Amino acid sequence: AHEGILRRQSARESAARTYARALPIVPVRARGLTIEGADGRRYLDCLSGAGTLALGHNHPVVLEAIRKVLDSGAPLHVLDLATPVKDAFTTELFRTLPPEFADRARVQFCGPAGTDAVEAAFKLVRAATGRTGMLAFTGAYHGMTAGALEASGGATEVRVARLPYPQDYRCPFGVGGDRGAELAARWTESVLDDSKSGVPRPAGMILEPVQGEGGVIPAPDEWMRRMREITASRSIPLIADEVQTGVGRTGAFWAVEHSGITPDVMVLSKAIGGSLPLAVVVYRDDLDVWQPGAHAGTFRGNQLAMAAGTATLAYVRENGLAERAGTLGAHMLAQLRKLADEFPCIGDVRGRGLMIGVELVDPEAAAPHSAADGPRPAAPELAAAVQRECLRRGLIVELGGRHSSVVRLLPPLTISDEQATAVLDRLADAVGAVAR
Ligand code: PMP
Repeated sequence: AHEGILRRQSARESAARTYARALPIVPVRARGLTIEGADGRRYLDCLSGAGTLALGHNHPVVLEAIRKVLDSGAPLHVLDLATPVKDAFTTELFRTLPPEFADRARVQFCGPAGTDAVEAAFKLVRAATGRTGMLAFTGAYHGMTAGALEASGGATEVRVARLPYPQDYRCPFGVGGDRGAELAARWTESVLDDSKSGVPRPAGMILEPVQGEGGVIPAPDEWMRRMREITASRSIPLIADEVQTGVGRTGAFWAVEHSGITPDVMVLSKAIGGSLPLAVVVYRDDLDVWQPGAHAGTFRGNQLAMAAGTATLAYVRENGLAERAGTLGAHMLAQLRKLADEFPCIGDVRGRGLMIGVELVDPEAAAPHSAADGPRPAAPELAAAVQRECLRRGLIVELGGRHSSVVRLLPPLTISDEQATAVLDRLADAVGAVAR
């Protein structure tokens, strides 16, 4: 079955198919961190639905929540009508949000994907401000529909001005650290205040507290506060895209909590649906200028996703899984930094909580003399080789980054210490095999 399925799918599916290309497996069963293929092989899944599975595959509380809805005879499709299932989800969601945000927040159900919530956020701030321009950052990823794509790396910019996202390792200003982040902030200020720069009047700024697809780049807390200050003083709504960073992933329930900022808008998806499709935009009530019907969509009321999401949010909150992600993530980062000391092909190890990136570089290139020289060139072929070697060893990892040179780990927050050790051992073996 395994070979036949792979052959038929690769013959009929779009050339754009992504994960299936690098990961030629046929999952038939899964539980927690583990996936089992049609060929009987087992894998540790650190892709986790691209960061969606906060509780891993088929967590009992998620399955039970879904079964309960099915057994209750509740309707599965109700457009955006009020239901007990939706009420429970909204209540639990608001319980987890930063209180100073939740106190004045409204939620718009979008759906079914993260990119839909991004579109809704753009549309909302455009309606609220009467302006059209959008500010986004180099290396950003917000989705694949027209507006979200405009704000993402590699897009043809139309109404979006791109600003430098701070990064230590490939700092565009050649200094990294706090100084690099401060220079990035000043760049943003100068662009906004230059009336001749051609930047359209911004309706909003969208940022990821940690860039995921862009290569696992955590924004410094101080830079986040600067962005809050810069946007607030110019009456520009700040949109935090927490599609990937939310629900405990980075060591706080929501990643904006690290810097303590209160955004005007939050875009949420992935883990909030407990493995099923669900996306919402949450925003301060005074931005709620929409008329009834101003934002619509048939699939905004997925009852199973809301039930699975409620169970997931509650489980993460009640079991302190955000703190757990923070401590385990710090430990894994420390172990990976030791690995980097051993292998010159690892240029950088970075992350926050259980959102971890290992950047592969060309070990043959001359070592940089100073930070201003920049790091060694990115090595996408080495990263792809590490991914292949990981798969051979029963470990599924994701690739990302501006040069596709970053191996990414997004394990479920429920991963045990022993499983984390197994993941690190397999990754170390894979790097060793590639470096030989
Ligand atoms: N924003 C961020 C930060 C993301 O990581 C993603 C997906 N990787 C999206 C938006 C888009 O979500 P979706 O793929 O569900 O449209």
